[in-house]
Amino acid sequence: MRISHLQALADIVLGDPEALALAYHETITGAEPVFESDAARGRFAVALKAVGIATDAARFQAAYAKLQQSADRKDEPVEPACRDCGSTNLTRDAFVAWDSDTQQWVLSATYKSTTCHACDAESDDLCRWKPIKDRLDELSSPASQ
Ligand SMILES: [Zn+2]
Repeated sequence: MRISHLQALADIVLGDPEALALAYHETITGAEPVFESDAARGRFAVALKAVGIATDAARFQAAYAKLQQSADRKDEPVEPACRDCGSTNLTRDAFVAWDSDTQQWVLSATYKSTTCHACDAESDDLCRWKPIKDRLDELSSPASQ
């Protein structure tokens, strides 16, 4: 049995609906774990869903819906825009740590604290995510207004 299967079993035993939703989502989207057959994957998915629903149906379904939304959003490129002025010139606080193996600084954590370099606003809730194609539409539409 693979480690990822054991992790999923641990999630089942612990009965955490969010972890079960994540395991279920990964199982049916085929990200991981790896199965010998589609039938085995299907049985495992059914078991995860059943336990998730039995544990806490509302929390399981809410967590699963959230995972589906973020998966859908991956198909469409987005960018953060400033809540206050709409600028996309934003940065977030982050830490880097030295990696002796690769001999370079590598990103170890990013934080929600976001700064707008257009209006100097700073907040954990500054980003308004918008599809990038909206901006392309604006640029290509005639400036008749
Ligand atoms: Zn701004």
